[in-house]
Amino acid sequence: MECFSLDLPDQPETLEQILVDCRDTLKYGVRTGHPRFLNQLSSGLDVVGVAGEWLTSTANTNMFTYEVSPVFVLMEECLLKKMQSILGWSDDVGDGIFCPGGTISNLYSILVARYHFYPEVKTRGMGVLPQLALFTSEQSHYSVKKSAAVLGMGSENVFMVKCDESGKMIPAELESSIVTAKEKALVPFYVNATAGTTVYGAFDPLNAIADICQRYTLWMHVDVSVELFNFKYLFSRACSVTWNPHKMMGVPLQCSAILVKKRGLLQECNDFGAEYLFQTDKNYDVSYDTGDKSIQCGRHVDVFKLWLMWKAKGSEGFGSQVNKCLENAEYLYDQLQRRTDFELVLKNKPEHSNVCFWYIPPSLRGQPPGPDRDARLHQVAPRIKGRMMEKGSVMIGYQPLGDKVNFFRCVFSNPATQQEDIDFLLDEITRLGDI
Ligand SMILES: *Cc1c(COP(=O)(O)O)cnc(C)c1O
Repeated sequence: MECFSLDLPDQPETLEQILVDCRDTLKYGVRTGHPRFLNQLSSGLDVVGVAGEWLTSTANTNMFTYEVSPVFVLMEECLLKKMQSILGWSDDVGDGIFCPGGTISNLYSILVARYHFYPEVKTRGMGVLPQLALFTSEQSHYSVKKSAAVLGMGSENVFMVKCDESGKMIPAELESSIVTAKEKALVPFYVNATAGTTVYGAFDPLNAIADICQRYTLWMHVDVSVELFNFKYLFSRACSVTWNPHKMMGVPLQCSAILVKKRGLLQECNDFGAEYLFQTDKNYDVSYDTGDKSIQCGRHVDVFKLWLMWKAKGSEGFGSQVNKCLENAEYLYDQLQRRTDFELVLKNKPEHSNVCFWYIPPSLRGQPPGPDRDARLHQVAPRIKGRMMEKGSVMIGYQPLGDKVNFFRCVFSNPATQQEDIDFLLDEITRLGDI
């Protein structure tokens, strides 16, 4: 960034310079809206979503009270109701709130679950509770552990339940972990299931997990990274759900919701009724002052862009946009199967938009499997990724998992990505890999 100074001046810069600064900011940044940005699920550039973000900034208001955000508060209510109906929850039970990302949504789920079983924790703290245990699969998102640490329960009290070959939680393993926790005098209270795991895009068996939660009276949360329009999945048994429209639905960052089946719980768990903000004698129905459900005070308006995109596409439009991404995943899977210079990590067809694979450079082809080949293969993906970033032609993630050495993980959420971009990706990997 030789010609782009980040230093802050004492004197104002000219408007021309400000425009140059804007241009440079985009020029040197990563174009996550580009069809060949396949690094994360938050990608793409939806023009209606961008317009929604601009209008949001123009309105420049705060979600905490109805008096300053009457329209946005009603939109949030309307969106949450719609989302609850898609989950299969009846009209009169659901509750929820938009919050800053899936990690915070997952944190909320643990917070309300703990409050549900132990309301005294709000005032008296963790010292009056037993040692609690949480359960999540070994392939779930790290935010479950992080939240347990933040909430004072300790990351070691999160039991990482074993998964099968395709990355799904094994229900029998969940049950034996619960028994183990009890033997250690811990008190199980919370299970996180994942619909669309981060690396493999796997779906945990929700019904079997719900049965176990019912048997042991545990809170069942589902962390959803898929969209929910096409998957007629059984979320009706979940006590809470994380829904992340800034992933597969392509809503500009950030946009995420925590949905809780027990109405009023979020409010009871988090309210402190600050009198300068949440006066009870206002001239309107103060139940529309939803801000005290939140662990924040001020809260950004994340609902408008989603509401506007939903208006512009309809539920069907979101569904077909996601189908396009799933078709891309299938196309990549088919190409990988056909080529001898690549190897799939999972043999089965992708269930979601994630496709994981190794590139096998010429020097490794024909070498027998074993620790020597693994050690060399482990270095291939990071080396190619580094070259990709320097060249700026395409971007894709990689990681190791369990006993598997570094492999590429491709995720599709940008409906602008075409089959030719996927062909380009594979050709580019071979070009960069053979330097
Ligand atoms: C992305 C993701 C998260 C984290 O969401 P953020 O919005 O990045 O905080 C949690 N769980 C799953 C399954 C995810 O895919």
